[in-house]
Amino acid sequence: MLVVMQATASPADVQRVCDAISEMGYQPLPMPGAQLTTVGLIGNDRRVDGSHIEALPGVAEIIYVSSPYKQVSREWRPANTLVTIAPGVTFGGSDVPVIAGPCSVESEQQIIEAAHTVRAAGAVALRGGAFKPRSSPYSFQGMGKEGLELLRRAKAETGLAIVTEAMDDEGAQLVAEYADCIQIGARNMQNYSLLKTVGKLRTPVMLKRGMAATVQELLLSAEYILAEGNDQVILCERGVRTWDPSSRNMFDLNAIPAVKKASHLPMIADPSHGTGVRDRVGPMARAAVAAGADGLLIEVHPDPNRALSDGAQSLFPQQFTELMGELVPIAAAIGRRITTPGAR
Ligand code: PEP
Ligand code: MN
Repeated sequence: MLVVMQATASPADVQRVCDAISEMGYQPLPMPGAQLTTVGLIGNDRRVDGSHIEALPGVAEIIYVSSPYKQVSREWRPANTLVTIAPGVTFGGSDVPVIAGPCSVESEQQIIEAAHTVRAAGAVALRGGAFKPRSSPYSFQGMGKEGLELLRRAKAETGLAIVTEAMDDEGAQLVAEYADCIQIGARNMQNYSLLKTVGKLRTPVMLKRGMAATVQELLLSAEYILAEGNDQVILCERGVRTWDPSSRNMFDLNAIPAVKKASHLPMIADPSHGTGVRDRVGPMARAAVAAGADGLLIEVHPDPNRALSDGAQSLFPQQFTELMGELVPIAAAIGRRITTPGAR
C-alpha cells in the first residue's frame, strides 16, 4: 500500500502517517519525491484497511498496489530507477551501456586482452565469471578469488566497471569487494537466501531470469532484494528453456517491454546465453536494443575456440566491434545512445 501525501504536507504530517503504519505492525518507508512525498507500507498488505490513514492531515490518497510484487512495480514508483554501477555507467536512463567479456576469467593474459578489446570496441563494463555455475561438476568451475584479483587488475588497466557472479552467501561478500555490480545467475534466481544477502549489501545487483522462470517470478525475486533495502537492481533477460534443439535457449524478446511496463527497474538483454549460438548473438542484440533494452551483456573471447566455457556463443573480437557499430544507429532511431567509454 502507498500513501500519497499532498504537496503541502508538512514533515509532521508525514511522521504521523509513519507512526500510524508502525502502530498497525508494518514498516513505513517514506519516499520524498521532487513534487510530493509518498509513504510505502511494507509487508503483506492484503487485509490492511487504510481508511483511518486516508483521514489523517496531509494525506492525498491511498494506492493499493495490485501486483504481488510491490516495491518493484511501476505502481509503487512510476519513474524509471537509474542504476549507476560506476561513473558514467548508468542503466535505466536514455543511455544503453554494453557489458562485454568472456564467460569465465581464465588467465591474466586472457582477461587483460579481453578487457582492452571490448573497451576499444566501446564496452563500458567488463564481465567474466570467477565463480562459475556449471551444469556438470567436472566442467571448469572458475578461478575463484584469483579470478577476482585478475578482474581488479583489468579494471585498473582499462577503467572498465566489473560485473561478476556470486553463487552463494559467503561468495557474495567477497565478490562485493571486487565488483561494481554483482551478477546473480539464472540458476540462482530463486535462491532466496542469496537474494536477501545481496539485498543487504549496497552494491548494485544484476539479476538474471531463471531458465524456466516467468516474468512475474523474475519480478518477485527482485522484490526480495528491494525488500532488504537495495533498490539498485538491473534485471536481465537471458533466454528460457526450449523444446527446440536449434538453439540453446529461447531468447524472449517480448519480456523486455513486458518488464519495462510492469517495473521501474532497468531491463537488459543477454543474447549470448539467450541463443547460445554465435551467429545469432548480433541479430538478437540489435533486436533487443530496438525493443527498448536498457543495456546489453555480450560474451566476447579473444580466442573463442579455446574458451573454457561458452566458446560456441562467444563473439570473436572483430564481430563484437562490428556489432557495436551497428547498435549506434539503432539506439539513435529510438532516441537513445549507446554509452561511450569516458576519456582515459
Ligand atoms: C553467465 O553469465 O556466464 C552465466 C552463467 O549466465 P546464466 O546464469 O544466464 O546462465
Ligand atoms: Mn557464460
